Amino acid sequence: MKYVFNPGKGKSSILLIYTGGTIGMKIDPAEQTLKPFVFSQILEEVPELGKFACRIDSCTFDRIIDSADVEPATWKSLTELIEEKYDMYDGFVILHGTDTMAYSASALSFMTEGLTKPVIFTGSQLPVGAARTDGKENLVSAVEIAAAKDGAGHALVPEVCIYFGNSLMRGNRTTKVSSESFRAFRSGNFPPLAEAGINIRYDRNMIIRPADWNARPLFHKRLDTRVSILKIHPGITPQVVKNIVCGPETRAVIIETYGSGNAPSREWFIDLVREGIRMGKLIVNVTQCLAGTVDMNLYATGKKLKDAGVLDGYDCTTEGALAKLFHLLGQSEDNGFVAREFDKNLRGEITK
Ligand code: ASP
Repeated sequence: MKYVFNPGKGKSSILLIYTGGTIGMKIDPAEQTLKPFVFSQILEEVPELGKFACRIDSCTFDRIIDSADVEPATWKSLTELIEEKYDMYDGFVILHGTDTMAYSASALSFMTEGLTKPVIFTGSQLPVGAARTDGKENLVSAVEIAAAKDGAGHALVPEVCIYFGNSLMRGNRTTKVSSESFRAFRSGNFPPLAEAGINIRYDRNMIIRPADWNARPLFHKRLDTRVSILKIHPGITPQVVKNIVCGPETRAVIIETYGSGNAPSREWFIDLVREGIRMGKLIVNVTQCLAGTVDMNLYATGKKLKDAGVLDGYDCTTEGALAKLFHLLGQSEDNGFVAREFDKNLRGEITK
């Protein structure tokens, strides 16, 4: 990891962590594809960062990656880095590819508990050097948000968030919805924590604050990734469902259901779900819809899943449910404990 200390002005200090993604890429003339370039060039491309009354140090991962290559090990490195540098900075900005940013922001939200400082993910749809880049605005505003404090000197947004396309969203509520629009992310079930126009307007009633500003956060680095995802669709076969729901290598399965939590009502489907639960697996119901919540009492098809012992994912995103399960399974081998914790609102990821 390359760490650059910047003796800048002002009292606040921000650590800018570069993992990769379009924001730091440029066209390779030989292959005509986007490839990562060295981070120092990003700072050259965004001289506006020098106008802030705060020190901005930077840190670059040894291997700059397209976020399609993000792994739980990446989240562990990010969490370790934030833990190590926590007392030295007022906030953290993570530059990350958009493809898996919602997964990473969800994961970091569970891996950090009781944050007193902002951890803001951002990136861009166009490389920062491109004429119409969205990277500059995203980066500059993310830094401003990470440095923002209230009258008492506390961070305005002590949460893991994504800032993108003028909107600050709780990280574990987001999904990437466009591979083209500058508003690439959506928080379908929770309002933005801030909107940036001429001013950045914070919705302070929506922002989570720590119980104790003086307590050091807990950093959870153990993840158990034995989780799979089954997306229901018309024509799904018993063999496919069996392989995923009853596969020996998983402890938990997320079923992405229709609408308010509905799945096929045919006997073979419910029987396989029951078999998975009999095998000791946790089976979780989240909706395929971008907005709205699971309600397994609403339709007979949802009620069958509930009666079989399927856990309610409420209005959680798939990314949020995956990260929550990785984290909780990593905390305990006892699936009863995981099921009870999964039902709680741990980091603002569900409305309950
Ligand atoms: N493939 C890129 C990535 O996720 C796309 C982006 O950064 O927007 O790393």
